[in-house]
Amino acid sequence: MKTRLSSLVNQIKPSGIRKFFDLANNMDGVISLGVGEPDFVTPWSICHASIQSIERGYTSYTEPEGLLELRKEISNYMKNRFQVTYSPYTDILVTVGGSQALDVSLRTVLNPGEEVIMIEPSYVAYAPLITLAGGKPIVVQTSIDTEFKPRPEQIRRAITKKTKAILICSPNNPTGSLFSKVELEAIAEIIKEYDLLVITDEIYAELSYDESFCSIASIREMRERTIIVSGFSKGYAMTGWRLGYICAPESITQAILRVMQNTLVSVPSMTQYGAIEGLKNGEKHVMEMRKSYRQRRNLVVSHLNEMGLDCHMPGGAFYVFPSIRSTGLSSEEFAEQLLINQRVAVVPGNAFGESGEGHIRCSYASSMDNLNEAMKRMRAFLKSLKIKQEKADTKGC
Ligand code: PLP
Repeated sequence: MKTRLSSLVNQIKPSGIRKFFDLANNMDGVISLGVGEPDFVTPWSICHASIQSIERGYTSYTEPEGLLELRKEISNYMKNRFQVTYSPYTDILVTVGGSQALDVSLRTVLNPGEEVIMIEPSYVAYAPLITLAGGKPIVVQTSIDTEFKPRPEQIRRAITKKTKAILICSPNNPTGSLFSKVELEAIAEIIKEYDLLVITDEIYAELSYDESFCSIASIREMRERTIIVSGFSKGYAMTGWRLGYICAPESITQAILRVMQNTLVSVPSMTQYGAIEGLKNGEKHVMEMRKSYRQRRNLVVSHLNEMGLDCHMPGGAFYVFPSIRSTGLSSEEFAEQLLINQRVAVVPGNAFGESGEGHIRCSYASSMDNLNEAMKRMRAFLKSLKIKQEKADTKGC
């Protein structure tokens, strides 16, 4: 029989994260540190603005690139917050979440077989999206020794004649690592030297805790080579609204727009009206959420290190990525046994690529009570593993 599926789609494996969520959802009393989304509800002023837009009858298609008023707000925000200038008329596109922004960007710039360098451990959708766009993901592996940041020479070694772009994510999912300006400058040098593009996923930019966030687009001569992918899901607690955006030079955005005109028509109007309010008046809410995540990050990192799970202090997002190597278990064994024995759900690190093996991802976007209880249960789990190991050692003697 003829195959009914595209050969590109056939290359996409089922998500490694789903398997654990399905298992956890069928159990009682589970504390989930698995989910990658804020535990806050969207600030009320944003919801209210959206409701008002419906009441006023603003319910039709908008411009395919998004409402001009929203693009103007995004333009102001990018300039004031990250010192990068984008024209609301030509350089900004409103998308269905960061997800669609990544998808249309990759589909617009890639020719079949062109390579995109991505840093692992990585967000689960990167490799599939590159593949579906006809490209080839080239993985640069990192480890806890460099806080999961690539050394410049690793990136250089991954470059071939087919390299089109480098995809970076800072603050990072799943590791929480944040690139400093100096680190971005080193990457920028390589991008300029080899005349590449960079796609920078800045969806967690608002959740940077100690150092302020730097966009690679703000580095000298980089704006013309950069596609910024960002959105409201994480910083504004708006995951369900499905609202993101792209900022890039006009030649690129106008090409992306041709893809969007034919596949999307426009992002839901009520969502866009909510986001306008978010950018106009929502900063104080974002600050409060950021403060709360920072406290929770500090709590979780100190607990994990105290219990012997080596964990670097992540600069942003709401994830920690501790090593579980000391237990002798694989990431999947650890996550599965922790869930079954102590009812705490975490994501095995290998779901984010081979270099995530030996780690787990814990999201701290959960209440302090939940986090304290989860840490208590994790400690009990580690203790039970130690007792088991001691018994096995004694038998061995
Ligand atoms: N990029 C990263 C790194 C993410 O973690 C996520 C969501 O988890 C996305 C993009 C997708 O964002 P959105 O929900 O806005 O589509």
